[in-house]
Amino acid sequence: MIWTFSLKPVRRHWRLWLVLIILMVGAPAWWREVEAGARGGTNPNLVWYVKTHQKVVALTFDDGPSKVFTPKILSILNQAHAKATFFMLGQAVTAHPALVREVSRMGMEIGNHTYAHINLKVHSPAQDRLDLIRSQDAIQAITGKLPTLMRPPYGAYNAALIKVARSLNLRVILWSWTEDPRDWANPGVAAIVSRVVNHIQPGDIVLFHDGGGDRSQTVEALSLIVKDLSAQGYRMVTVSHLLNDAEPNSHSPQT
Ligand SMILES: [Zn+2]
Repeated sequence: MIWTFSLKPVRRHWRLWLVLIILMVGAPAWWREVEAGARGGTNPNLVWYVKTHQKVVALTFDDGPSKVFTPKILSILNQAHAKATFFMLGQAVTAHPALVREVSRMGMEIGNHTYAHINLKVHSPAQDRLDLIRSQDAIQAITGKLPTLMRPPYGAYNAALIKVARSLNLRVILWSWTEDPRDWANPGVAAIVSRVVNHIQPGDIVLFHDGGGDRSQTVEALSLIVKDLSAQGYRMVTVSHLLNDAEPNSHSPQT
């Protein structure tokens, strides 16, 4: 039997073929976009994660420092030779200066999380500015270092806040959408661990809390998470370190 190839159906359904070819060519690029989008947004003034092929991730802790939980977290990080970033509240900084000094002394990074956990979106730019400066001053007075990173409470931001942050030389850091274990809701140690380690990717920024309530589950989960990530070959670094390790052009510089 001789198989003959006819162009007749191709000609008849050329529009369909055209659509199929466009889909085949475009789908991988589109899917890559979808995947990247799932880790964070596209606003170049904000950081959700960093593009890198190196196995580095940034663990971050909000709402502290806490007299009870922060020392336990520090000890776990230290044992694992891990660094992390603490987005502190100015009022907690003022209440626990020795602890803040210890966090800084251990090579951890300290970022600004406002003075009193305010929603920066609902305040005026002038109020946002005052609040952020108050925290900057409190942290600098204790550590001698002025933070270069801030994280808005509730992840709530707008264009005005981005402008205020930029004027204070503060980079706005959020977190990878796939790396929010919702530890503040105390979902159980196993849930916190699996939510973090199952989806981890190079360049991720993981969101934890060391203050704002009973963080026993976070502490217990963290000791398992650092072991798992180390076994997977990940290095845990500060957010500034992660930004420095980013591949060229992987995030737009703040202008
Ligand atoms: Zn917070």
